[in-house]
Amino acid sequence: MFSVECHCGNLKLITNEHPASITSCNCSICYRLGALWAYYDSEKVTVRVGDKSVDTYSWGEKSITYHRCGECGCITHYTTVETNGNEMTAINCRMASSSITDKIPVRQFDGLLTWKYRDV
Ligand SMILES: [Zn+2]
Repeated sequence: MFSVECHCGNLKLITNEHPASITSCNCSICYRLGALWAYYDSEKVTVRVGDKSVDTYSWGEKSITYHRCGECGCITHYTTVETNGNEMTAINCRMASSSITDKIPVRQFDGLLTWKYRDV
């Protein structure tokens, strides 16, 4: 099992699959967020929301929606609809304990220019 939660605990995500790797992306928003992403089919992720609000953010073609706790402001995940029609959820592993994420390899993704991993 792998689970994360925002700072205040209002927003939690749970999945059965521990991430094999997590991704650091340098695109215009991921770089600002400092997020570390693990990618899942959305149907494999359970999202639990407490009694506080959740805000969303998207821009441009609005193909990606970022989800942020309305109480503590942490970005916990983003969701996107893939070309095959399936929804994908990217969990922000910064919402997990560093004692867990420190053991997971981090891959560098060049989302700014080449749209490729820089470690291949
Ligand atoms: Zn929160």
